[in-house]
Amino acid sequence: MKLSCYHTHTVFCDGADTVDAMCAAAARKGFSALGFSAHAPLPLPSAWHLDASRLDEYRAAVRAAAEAYRGRLEVYLGLEIDYIEGMNGPADPKWKAAGLDYSIGSVHYLIPPNGAAPFTVDGPYEEWARGVTDGYGGDAEAAAAAYWKAVAAMVRDGGFDFVGHLDLIKKNNRGAGAPLSFDPEGARYREAALEAVEEIAARGTLVEINTGGLNRGSVSECYPSPWLLGELRKRNARVVVNADAHRTDHLDGHYDEARRALRAAGFDRTAMLLGGRWAEEALD
Ligand SMILES: [Zn+2]
Ligand SMILES: [Zn+2]
Repeated sequence: MKLSCYHTHTVFCDGADTVDAMCAAAARKGFSALGFSAHAPLPLPSAWHLDASRLDEYRAAVRAAAEAYRGRLEVYLGLEIDYIEGMNGPADPKWKAAGLDYSIGSVHYLIPPNGAAPFTVDGPYEEWARGVTDGYGGDAEAAAAAYWKAVAAMVRDGGFDFVGHLDLIKKNNRGAGAPLSFDPEGARYREAALEAVEEIAARGTLVEINTGGLNRGSVSECYPSPWLLGELRKRNARVVVNADAHRTDHLDGHYDEARRALRAAGFDRTAMLLGGRWAEEALD
């Protein structure tokens, strides 16, 4: 099957390699397409987002690479845009004006309802533990439900091409019974997740299967989990395989595992952005 990745970070945000190095590696691996998705500038202090002052430079670097690789590798300009309720989201018209080929909608941050500081669920465990303790009185089930509510709201608002790492919230979860953890098989968690899945199904929103957690050793399976892939398949959702690559050697990392998980859930095709449009390719 054709190889592609539309979830790719570089030195413009928190990746280790340059746009050119990523393109060279993708071409070497025989990729058909590579899409860049820097963490979009954010109205919060952050060390891992593209600085707003460098957006033009980022755009120019990706466009120059697209030109340099014309005929060998399709190169696309994208952003991974944070949905943070009331603060930032892919539906903001300013992203339309940015001239992107596509964008990813992702929830990394939770805003606790009690006024505690926003925190990312994608950070180290200590940040999750502090956020759940200060923001949700130690109730990780409540934090997880808030995450899924944010995903559902983001999908309703739209403005992006696919949902990033659907169940990222599991990254710091240590399992049923552990402190500051939730039960991923519990009714409360599953109901909250299914509400987001229903929004995805109702809108035909594209969802990625993301091997980034496997590539970086932070989780033992793809995002989303097998049961969620099954629920998505039941509702005829479309999926795109991505590595959430932060370095050249992540580019097709664990793709075999992603394909196995998709087949096990009953998928026989994936979506790819080729020739400037999203189309379905057989998963063989
Ligand atoms: Zn992300
Ligand atoms: Zn990412």
